Amino acid sequence: MLAPTFPPAYRGRFAPSPTGPLHFGSLVAALTSALEARVNQGQWHLRMEDVDAPRCSQTNADEILRALEIFGFEWDGAVVWQSQRTAAYAVALEQLCRSGDVFPCSCTRRELADAEIHGLAIDGASLYPGTCRNGLAQGKSARAWRLAVGDAQISFTDAVQGRIESALCEDVGDFVLLRADNIFAYQLAVVVDDAATGITHVVRGADLLHSTARQIFLQKCLGLTTPSYAHIPIVVNAAGEKLSKQTGATALDTRNPEAELVTALQFLAQSPPAGLRRASVAEIWQWACVHWALASVPRVMTQTCNALDRPNK
Ligand code: GLU
Repeated sequence: MLAPTFPPAYRGRFAPSPTGPLHFGSLVAALTSALEARVNQGQWHLRMEDVDAPRCSQTNADEILRALEIFGFEWDGAVVWQSQRTAAYAVALEQLCRSGDVFPCSCTRRELADAEIHGLAIDGASLYPGTCRNGLAQGKSARAWRLAVGDAQISFTDAVQGRIESALCEDVGDFVLLRADNIFAYQLAVVVDDAATGITHVVRGADLLHSTARQIFLQKCLGLTTPSYAHIPIVVNAAGEKLSKQTGATALDTRNPEAELVTALQFLAQSPPAGLRRASVAEIWQWACVHWALASVPRVMTQTCNALDRPNK
């Protein structure tokens, strides 16, 4: 008799934005989510977050895929491309519009920045002052579409960062779902895609910790299940800046994946033995699967990595 098939209890993902090549910070996020999926006998999916087309390129996406292969990553199923998923985002937006909580907004970035009285949102953007919540002013036309957050309080327990609580109206305000340039916002795309792929566990960098409350709110509005979350420290340079092209982050050395993988395990406080640097990529993965402990990952939002003090290549 055939055993009944159940969806896997664990379904993780890695969702890079192809705005540049894979860098050390994204390797750390990919490695953590892949190892968590492996040790939980789960699946691990890959999604190219290229919804913001003007900032993304196929060359970057190809380079990321090639680098992931060199670093020994194996993903389940086909890669999901956000650029091919806009119909699904439109359906979700329509559903939210029908609920009456989405409204058109005419505010420019400048107008929002000038509304200083309302202060800054948790991620440094302007806190939305609610200007268009009750209708557009005479003569104004819609630029973006926002979701009203009302008095929503969101709380969740992050597997690394612990208990997180957010009063959305104080932390972010009504947030954008469809941008003024007609591109679906990251928050909406991520929620729709995580649900469509049946993601049960989101493991990613702590720079996205403050997005999570918005995503959980969206899941509630759309009647979707909320996955578990784990936000790992992001890699910063000595000046405390996130690794990026702007801050001089070097692309990963794909000629030396073994050293990069071991440095990533070190960063994640997994205590790899010194000799592991001489092992093969497959052996490093074997070691990591046996010794992996999410509980050892430091409960901090940012962390420097001394081994990265190397000249830009
Ligand atoms: N695409 C995002 C990034 O590269 C990650 C999104 C997510 O993991 O939810 O930073």
